[in-house]
Amino acid sequence: MSTDPAPNPHPANRAGPAAGPGTVTGASPDPAAADAVSRTRHAVAELHAELVRNGLVAWTSGNVSARVPGTDLLVIKPSGVAYPDLTTESMVVCDLSGTRVSGELSPSSDTASHAYIYRHMPGVGGVVHTHSRYATAWAARGEPIPCVITAMADEFGGEIPIGPFAPIGGEEIGRAVVETLTGHRSPAVLLRSHGVFTVGATARDAVKAAVMCEDAACTVHLASAGGQVTPLPPDQIDALYRRYQNEYGQR
Ligand SMILES: [Zn+2]
Repeated sequence: MSTDPAPNPHPANRAGPAAGPGTVTGASPDPAAADAVSRTRHAVAELHAELVRNGLVAWTSGNVSARVPGTDLLVIKPSGVAYPDLTTESMVVCDLSGTRVSGELSPSSDTASHAYIYRHMPGVGGVVHTHSRYATAWAARGEPIPCVITAMADEFGGEIPIGPFAPIGGEEIGRAVVETLTGHRSPAVLLRSHGVFTVGATARDAVKAAVMCEDAACTVHLASAGGQVTPLPPDQIDALYRRYQNEYGQR
């Protein structure tokens, strides 16, 4: 299966320079920034319920983060807190080096990797990580998910790529995500022997990509178990992707 980067990468997947100075901290007196932090904390807390509702997480695994618009800050889940106990107040605010600037609890153990993604992919406003079952089964085999159904062409514009194994806790996972997704249309990447990272212009978009990734992983797994699957032709993938990204839904 080709792992060549597709032309016309997803807008969120363009690599860029690291964020510059001008950090607005959670303690900033700037009322607009404080309001943005507050709204982002609420949104990120709410979106974690979607991971549970869609069956993407077990116990405390998985996390959602969002860039705070207009600042060099991110909001992320606290480490090791059960999903029913997550509240707006328990969300953790960090700078883009992954250092906590506001919040009582320790941030997710994946925070340094989320921060790396925001620093190196300026179009990304949200990041999701899960160990969702079917997608992680593909990751365990070290295989990309081939683009054999229209829903994958629509959402991912091709296969869902497989990235390298990377140790947990530092920013190595973030580097693996950026290197695999840069120049690729897919907002989802499988990390070998680990799980899934998705990105989006917003955190909601990244959550949608995580849901769609698991759905595709399940369908293509079931299809593969029954026989051979055939990738869609590249021109059909291009046409489906263009239609879904530019014309589908309410404009
Ligand atoms: Zn993980």
